[in-house]
Amino acid sequence: MRVLRVGSRGTDVMEIQSLLKKIGYNPGPIDGIYGQQTKNAVTQFQRDNGLDADGIIGPQTYKVLDILLRGYDTYYIQPGDTLWKISRDYFTTLNRVIAANPGINPFQLQIGQRIVVPYGIDIVDTDIDYTYEIMERDIQGLKARYPFIEVGVAGESVLGKKLYYIKLGNGPNQVFYNASHHALEWITTPVLMKFTENFLKSYTNGKEIRGYDLEQIWNNSSIYIMPMVNPDGVDLVLNGLSTDNPYYNELINWNNGSTDFSRVWQSNIRGVDLNHNYPARWEESRRRALELGITGPGPTRYGGPFPLSEPETETVTEFVKNHNFRLVLAYHTQGEVIFWQFEDLQPPVARTIGEMFERASGYRLAEITGIGAYAGMKDWFIQEYRRPGYTIEAGLGRNPLPISQFDKIYNDNEEILLLASIV
Ligand SMILES: [Zn+2]
Repeated sequence: MRVLRVGSRGTDVMEIQSLLKKIGYNPGPIDGIYGQQTKNAVTQFQRDNGLDADGIIGPQTYKVLDILLRGYDTYYIQPGDTLWKISRDYFTTLNRVIAANPGINPFQLQIGQRIVVPYGIDIVDTDIDYTYEIMERDIQGLKARYPFIEVGVAGESVLGKKLYYIKLGNGPNQVFYNASHHALEWITTPVLMKFTENFLKSYTNGKEIRGYDLEQIWNNSSIYIMPMVNPDGVDLVLNGLSTDNPYYNELINWNNGSTDFSRVWQSNIRGVDLNHNYPARWEESRRRALELGITGPGPTRYGGPFPLSEPETETVTEFVKNHNFRLVLAYHTQGEVIFWQFEDLQPPVARTIGEMFERASGYRLAEITGIGAYAGMKDWFIQEYRRPGYTIEAGLGRNPLPISQFDKIYNDNEEILLLASIV
């Protein structure tokens, strides 16, 4: 953690601004720029927490902020404690404390017993640039709050970042949702993360979402969520090119000499467009790329030296092979359209389900043509399994879509995410 002060800029500043706002301070706009207003909010926070009130986030202040960012604290039971009292002191609910400590008996607390106390605030922030680091911390936070979920690592990216998955439910009907194959389309990651949190929150409270019975879904289905397939690319887009990147010089070359990746880079860190790297008429994809003048690594549409040349796509296909997925959703931006076909290999029910998604979201089913029609994740899934697979192009505008579009995108897609687990 670097020291943050007036003049600092970046996704880490943005994350702390969002947190301060969430807990009742006024850091100004959540823009990743540490200005006077952010400094004032930090100073106030420091005073309230008995810290040196200098308006600079150094190790001491960060330590306190970090616990809040994680969304939970570890607490040791003191004489006279009750779970109700602890919940009140932490501004959280008894329900949340009980969910985070399975098997706990509120009437038989032991002095010195270690418990997890989730704060009353949500974990997944939807007003910030959502980096790999933030996702990783959020996954840990969700696992601490909801210890009954399965969290795993399916593989690693080129640079060794973990390709996490989260499993919701215990039923036989397995489905698979993934996001951020394309680096600029990182907003799809918080969509799946927020869905995960909302699902768990309502499920543990015995509530429905949009009339869907979550307990029934939990018992009948297993929803596997891989929220960030291309973490190296997302990191490059959001945090910029770091000098210790092993592909530093190549990346600048592949990016036509520019060090600005924030508006153009879709590929992984080796310049391979992961959604053109699957073995589903990959040669045709390459032929069309050549027609467009794409001959090697670059920001977009280069399908790699051979199918599944990249660890990210290799991980996804192995993950699919090791399960029995009835249906797949691959999240992208943008266009508010749903692609549902591949070479007419999809089963007839794919259209029926697609039409249900249309009604649920207001998006429309579309046929894809040109280079985008081959070598993608859903193409490979349909080809291999003849089961329903969808590319959902969420949101409207020019990639990268700003996080200010989050609420609309989430709202449009929440019912698709529920429906897909039961159709
Ligand atoms: Zn895409």
